[in-house]
Order: sequence, then structure tokens, then C-alpha cells
Amino acid sequence: MQKIAVVGAGFSGSTIARELAERGYEVDVFDTRAHVAGNCHTERDAQSGIMVHVYGPHIFHTSNERVWEYVRRFDRFMPFINRVKAHANGQVFSLPINLMTINQLFNKQFSPAEAREFIAGQADHSITEPRTFEDQALAFVGQKIYETFFRGYTRKQWGLEPSELPASILKRLPVRFNYDDNYYGSKFQGIPEHGYTYIVERILDHANIRVHLSTSFARAQAQDYAHVFYSGPIDAWFGHSEGRLSYRTLDFEVVRGTGDYQGNPVINYCDESVPWTRVAEHKHFTPWEEHEETILFREHSRLCEEQDTPYYPIRLVHDKARLQRYIDLAKSEQGVTFVGRLGTYRYLDMHITIAEALTAAERFLEAQDAGTAP
Ligand code: UDP
Repeated sequence: MQKIAVVGAGFSGSTIARELAERGYEVDVFDTRAHVAGNCHTERDAQSGIMVHVYGPHIFHTSNERVWEYVRRFDRFMPFINRVKAHANGQVFSLPINLMTINQLFNKQFSPAEAREFIAGQADHSITEPRTFEDQALAFVGQKIYETFFRGYTRKQWGLEPSELPASILKRLPVRFNYDDNYYGSKFQGIPEHGYTYIVERILDHANIRVHLSTSFARAQAQDYAHVFYSGPIDAWFGHSEGRLSYRTLDFEVVRGTGDYQGNPVINYCDESVPWTRVAEHKHFTPWEEHEETILFREHSRLCEEQDTPYYPIRLVHDKARLQRYIDLAKSEQGVTFVGRLGTYRYLDMHITIAEALTAAERFLEAQDAGTAP
């Protein structure tokens, strides 16, 4: 049977490797890191035994039944609803923006209909086609909510003015006129009982898969394989010939203690006077476990330099122009499929990554069956 190379052992690469292995292909998986699961990597802290989300908090949510079924083949998902709080202007608020947030901020007792009418009065109706993050916020929630929750946080998170960022970033967040404070609107949500690394290890646990950790994959090695699925940074594959695509990276300031530090898994800090964007208290991601000790990550965002781990694709105008040139190069690259967050330079949630990986594997298998090269 033909040999396939998969570069990157995150959810993208692992899912593809598994699908192909199950159809009889021999798959070599390469990752430069010493662990699988990419930025979803979780590990137990040696001192406290707490399951730590090493690259920041990951909460699994999806409305895609196929994806939900898929991940649950590899671990039990424990019930978990992400309820985020925000520190802003000397107060604690409920997030995402919901009726509680609105009543807290404006010191009211609005009903859903009253709040809807009130917010409509706050919104800037002169902005008919919001393109930027700032326009999107002003057009939908108005100045006060924008300034309290979005402006400072976004400047810290992206290092840019909200007027320079695309509206699409804010469209990720809902505004609700009821007391639903579930951060996500997905049908299914949960956290794997044994962590994300365990799931990815199990996805890769197949007789036809060999995993090579701490191993980079050179472009020249592609000739040894019938096909390569590449989930590394697309610009790196082409030797950055068109310039580097820009990312934000995160630094985590680790704080240790005992007891319950903040009483919630995630608290956002919206004011610019606080240098971090949010604080994650890891033991609250496994509420079914008991730990006396506690570990917190204060998250600091900055521009990603060459040696750093890329997190968020920035996707400014110059990035998009570069990306287009890389996409054109990728189209003429025979026998390589670019997948995942880094391979396609998009801000992807875990469930989207898995759905797209399943589709990529399916397309490849269909093309093989039909005798056409993908
Ligand atoms: N955001 C904000 N204030 C908040 C939370 C989010 O301004 O309290 C903005 C910010 O620009 C962020 C975007 O909304 O990048 C998307 O937020 P989300 O919580 O989805 O970010 P993630 O968890 O993916 O980092």
C-alpha cells in the first residue's frame, strides 16, 4: 500500500492519519515538538496533578454531530459549559454580553424586550455596512459596551486598533437578550476526561501509523511519499519566499497557590490598565477532580517572532495578499494538501479543524478510488 506523510500531529494531521490508516495506508506522522496535539496539548502538572492546558484554555464545542461522535470515540467528554466573567471598570460582569451584563452595566432591571430596545437606541445606525471590528461593535451595541468590554481587550489581544481589525473577529461573539451566559452557542460542549493529548494519542494509536516526534520534515522528503498532508505554517513550506505571515503569540505568567483563586475557569480583563487579557485557573476545567493546589495562567499577547509559537493569524491586508501568493504556489504543488490553522492561515476552532480534516481525508480517498490525483 502507498505511504503517506502527515506533517503536524495536531487535530488536523492526526484525524487525517487515522482516516487513511483505517483504509490501509501506511502513515508516517512528523511533528517538530516533543508531544502530540499541537496547541491543544494538555499535561498533568508534576507538582499538583492538575491537568494543564499548556497552550491556553481549550473548551470543545460543536454543533456538528459527526465531529461530536468522532471525538467521543477516543475519550469520554465530561459535561462542561464555558461561563466566562469579565473584570472591567472596577466591576465583575457576566460574558458574553447578555441581559445580566446589560443590566449590570447600566444599573437596570430590563426585561428582554426593554433591553433590546435600549441597546438599539445605543447602537450607531449610521454604520450600515460594518467592515471593521470597531464599526461592528458600534453598529450593534454602541459606544459604552464597546468601550467597556471590547476596545481595551482587543487592543491588548491584537496589538492593533479595533478600527484596523476585520469585523469577523467580533462576529464570533454573541449578544443575547436573555440570561444565557453559555459562551458558545453550540449544540454540544464538553472537556475530555483525560485531556486533549490523550485523545490525539488514541487517534494516532493504529497499527498503520508511525509517529515521529521532535522530527522536522523537509520538503525534499515529499518524494518518498505518495502524498503529503501538511498542517505546518504554509509560508514555512515555501521557505517564506513571499515573506512571513504574521501571527500573535501568547506568554503565560504562571501563578501557583492553594484553594480557589478566582472561582471560575476563565476571567477576562477588559481594562488596559491590567497587562494580561485573561486568567485561566486550570483546575476548574476538570470540576470532576479535586485539587487543593491551584495553577493560574495570566495570558499576555504579543507579536509572534520567528522562534515563538504561532497562535492567532492576524490576517491584515498585507498578510492576505501574501497568503494569496502562497495559495497560488500551493495550487501548483503536486501531491501536497495544506490543512489546519497553520496550513491555511485561518483562526480555527478545534471542531472546525476536525470537520475539515475528515473532509480532506474523504476527498483524497475518493480521488484515489476514482484514479485521479488530488
Ligand atoms: N473580545 C473582547 N473582549 C472580551 C472577549 C473577546 O474584546 O472580553 C474580542 C477580542 O478581540 C477577541 C475576540 O473578541 O479576540 C474573540 O473572542 P474569543 O473569546 O472568541 O477569543 P479566543 O477565546 O478565541 O481567544
